[in-house]
Amino acid sequence: MTTLEQLLTVQEHDTHLDQLRHRLETLPERTALAEHRRALATLDAETLGVQEQRDAIGRDQKRVEDEVASVEAKAAEVDAKLYSGTITSPRELQGFQEDLESLRRRQRQLEDDVLVFMEQLEPLDADLAARATRRAELATEEERLAAALADAERAVEGELDDATAARARDVEPIPADVLDRYDRLRKQHDGVAIARLVGNHCGGCHLTLSAVEVDRIKHEPPDALIYCEECGRLLVR
Ligand SMILES: [Zn+2]
Repeated sequence: MTTLEQLLTVQEHDTHLDQLRHRLETLPERTALAEHRRALATLDAETLGVQEQRDAIGRDQKRVEDEVASVEAKAAEVDAKLYSGTITSPRELQGFQEDLESLRRRQRQLEDDVLVFMEQLEPLDADLAARATRRAELATEEERLAAALADAERAVEGELDDATAARARDVEPIPADVLDRYDRLRKQHDGVAIARLVGNHCGGCHLTLSAVEVDRIKHEPPDALIYCEECGRLLVR
């Protein structure tokens, strides 16, 4: 086998390795997981909005409930004083009586407000519960997708390991200067540095070489480095 034949085998390994790396980067499992995570992030952002709305109403409700407790305590105080028997002046008694009624009215009003808050919270709490269920489902699905991606990655990485080992074996006999040239050409020509001359076609650029050029190539010594006159890639006869 000539050096160029050996180099062509290395090229096949490199092309295969490039394809495997591309496959690894563009695994459909990776896209599926990324899309799923975006959906999760959207759900979380929306849920945060609902939660904030719920918390704001919850705080209002707590504030009014505290006020109810304070009005109730005040009413109990007035009530106790009213029936303690210590107040004898009818005018004073009437004053306390009016205070008590006013406090009771205020308490009922506030309790109605609490009911309104509770009614507002009900659908929000139901929504949050449904969201929590949905979140748990999506989290389970995320785990499944992540495991599927890990499996797919492992499979391609196994192939990469095998191809890397095969390349290392086949690159061994190739002289360093030829390899340098090969590496440079690969960078210049989209990963393909060397191709076979098929009839009068370059296997790299698929263009036809002139009859004069093909004839000249035929008369070159077997190990001479020959380049395609169209694309500049190395050619194997
Ligand atoms: Zn060419």
